[in-house]
Amino acid sequence: MNRRHVIVVIFKSIVLLLSSNSFALSASKKNFKEDSYWKKILTPEQFKILRMSGTEPPFSSKLNNEKREGEYLCIACNTKLFHSSMKYDSGTGWPSFFDCYKSSLKTKIDFKLVYPRIEYHCAVCNGHHGHLFSDGPKPTFKRYCNNGKVLKFIAKM
Ligand SMILES: [Zn+2]
Repeated sequence: MNRRHVIVVIFKSIVLLLSSNSFALSASKKNFKEDSYWKKILTPEQFKILRMSGTEPPFSSKLNNEKREGEYLCIACNTKLFHSSMKYDSGTGWPSFFDCYKSSLKTKIDFKLVYPRIEYHCAVCNGHHGHLFSDGPKPTFKRYCNNGKVLKFIAKM
């Protein structure tokens, strides 16, 4: 990746961040629960993803191929994050959505790789869910690339 490409990526990330409906520059002042609490209710893999910003291997979640109508909830706190009508097959190996329920997710810039990415987390429990990209389909052109193992799918009855 050359310097010009890095600048373009940074610029696109900032535009995407500002356009996301849940922009938050600083950590919320909410009184989030301690790690000891989450270790009791989450599996080690869920804890790694949600509390340590981990990433599951691609194609490892059965929700990747889930096509039924229903709701996708945060597995830690049951907040509704996505509806099945927002899901699409991105081919990346992670459940992907072009939109989310308003105010259900918050975003911040993540500098873990060479270039900045936008990470997003549950607005209620602060658990990390995935990264937001600007290569999604119409009408939003957004791609919420979510770890499937931290989602709970509730099929419509
Ligand atoms: Zn949550």
